[in-house]
Amino acid sequence: MGSEILLISTDFDGTLVAHDSDPVLDFACMELIAQMKENGAAWAINTGRSVELLESGLLDFDFPVHPDFILTSERDVFRPASNGNGGWEAFGDWNKRVASDHAELFSSAESVLAEVVDFVTQKTGARLIYHANGIEGLIAGDEAEMDRITDFIDRAREKQPKFHYQRNTVYLRFCHTDYHKGAALAELARLINVPRENIFAAGDHYNDLSMLDGRYAAMPACPANAIPQVKAAVGAAGGYVARQSYGAGVGEALLHFTS
Ligand SMILES: [Mg+2]
Repeated sequence: MGSEILLISTDFDGTLVAHDSDPVLDFACMELIAQMKENGAAWAINTGRSVELLESGLLDFDFPVHPDFILTSERDVFRPASNGNGGWEAFGDWNKRVASDHAELFSSAESVLAEVVDFVTQKTGARLIYHANGIEGLIAGDEAEMDRITDFIDRAREKQPKFHYQRNTVYLRFCHTDYHKGAALAELARLINVPRENIFAAGDHYNDLSMLDGRYAAMPACPANAIPQVKAAVGAAGGYVARQSYGAGVGEALLHFTS
């Protein structure tokens, strides 16, 4: 039994979306979220996807419920656009701060980033991902290769502690150590005035750890398919590790905290 849930923060891929299952979404979980929204809770999708990739995901998987907020790229905070066209707009000045802190970081961490790029290109088969302003992250061939890459970055970043990364299966995004899903969730909670005690969060992978350690959400949870590190963090924070996987596990956790 938890406090009343006023803000729900769920990861997307591997948490609500079961890519290898049919159906991909758990209908009962979506119903439950819809019902909680009707009763006044806000629902945020907190994902590593960009706004564009999340929008296409919501369409592709035919989401029956629309999120109230989206927290994207493991750092940005968006609310529905005020022009009512169904799009999203930056919520407050957070995203600007995120962008300028990252621009500053990537210029001061240039040599560490160059070392990482050298290692990745010379010692691995991983593919580097670029965006307009430079390098964004990489995609490893498999999780073992990603383990080798993160081991290398963990050593290289000792010289530049603000330089960090978010890891999600074979995907990795470089980032400033102050920005992650937990920080984006805390900013949203501040903007809509919801205390930590009334926040539920659910995720399945490394990049979800920052919102599941109990610091920003008093009710952390994970589905049964979450990686062991996530289950351990959720357990240590007094959260709920579901018996069921994906959306069914999220629904199970929501019921656990509301009944
Ligand atoms: Mg995930």
